[in-house]
Amino acid sequence: MSNQYVLVINSGSSSLKFAVIDSQTGEAPLTGLGECFGLPEAEISWKYQGEKTVEAISADGNHHQCAFERVVKLLETLSLSSKFVAVGHRIVAGGETFKGTVKVDESVIQEVDRLAELAPLHNKANAEGMRAAMTAFPSLPQFAIFDTAFHQTMPAKAFMYALPYELYEEHKVRRYGAHGTSHYYVSREAAKMLDKSLGESSFITVHLGNGASVSAVKNGECVDTSMGLTPLAGLMMGTRCGDLDPSVIEFLFRKGWEKDEVFEMMNKKSGFLGVSGVTSDARGVLEEMEAGNTRAKLAFDIFTYRVAKYIASYLVALDSLDAIVFTGGIGENSLPIRREILNNLKLLGFVEDEKGNEDARFGNAGLIATSELLGAKALVIPTNEEFVIAQESVALMK
Ligand code: ADP
Repeated sequence: MSNQYVLVINSGSSSLKFAVIDSQTGEAPLTGLGECFGLPEAEISWKYQGEKTVEAISADGNHHQCAFERVVKLLETLSLSSKFVAVGHRIVAGGETFKGTVKVDESVIQEVDRLAELAPLHNKANAEGMRAAMTAFPSLPQFAIFDTAFHQTMPAKAFMYALPYELYEEHKVRRYGAHGTSHYYVSREAAKMLDKSLGESSFITVHLGNGASVSAVKNGECVDTSMGLTPLAGLMMGTRCGDLDPSVIEFLFRKGWEKDEVFEMMNKKSGFLGVSGVTSDARGVLEEMEAGNTRAKLAFDIFTYRVAKYIASYLVALDSLDAIVFTGGIGENSLPIRREILNNLKLLGFVEDEKGNEDARFGNAGLIATSELLGAKALVIPTNEEFVIAQESVALMK
């Protein structure tokens, strides 16, 4: 069977990621990223046949639109326009409407736009991305793959908040989760790696990137996850605070803060950045910590402690555990962070495989710890959300 390539579009609030991907092998001849939209340093970069190119995006005009037009031109120049058979879009919030991948049409775009109340910056950009791609590639089928869809199997006891039930009935206030495509992918890869049947498997998947979340995955289905109504909940992240006492918000209002200021602070000025006072980037936090910065050390401690607490608490959602699976930029690469999380879990019997932990970095999967007590492993599995988007798109074409 000949290769079936898919153009994958991930239109973020201030970025545009794109890739042309083989839906069977995951090989990607072209990958690229437009970033810093809205800022003077907005740029677009791509990697084609191993070679990287970076271009500035003009300061005037709509950066999303300029970047998308540049991608379309690039695909033509590289003779890739006729190579892909579908366009797959990563969509952040699907609410309760979208429980799986759907073919894009005007009604889907409108519903994604309406669901922007759950992810204001992301869903608007996602809807615009779908519109732009429908115009640029009118003859190709387009598919929407939702970050929340994998979490739609959660039972009500996991997704409901202890608020008046009417808030759920009237406004669908509940936990939706995020990073679903990543939790889906690594749970399947973990079953393969351990030679387990997916239908009889139990994993705690830990996606640690700029955004971070943990999921409990039982027999291939999500049964709990740490992000909530929005991706602000759960773990501490690069710039997001994660869980806190909701009264902090009311307390700050009483201190004279405005609503937008409070939410900007919790989304963009908290997490690694807020605690360390230096950077939102885990590598930078680790460097500062090594240089003796005590606030960077505190950021590291809060982060690793909270991840471990979530992992331990998700044992409640499972009957047994086959593996904890680390993924995302931090989970795939950071030896000290993984080591400290496992250290915090020593009561569960996890013993680090030091060589395994050293080796499982920079794109390498591996076994990094074992617990005799639980009969469980800790694994590192690089995520590949784009590959899932390409696979889902081609599967739905059939
Ligand atoms: P996003 O959520 O934006 O997709 P990524 O999954 O790419 O983010 O993860 C970005 C995070 O991964 C950053 O905090 C970065 O510092 C961290 N990271 C990447 N490589 C390493 C490394 N070698 N050691 C520690 N952290 C790393």
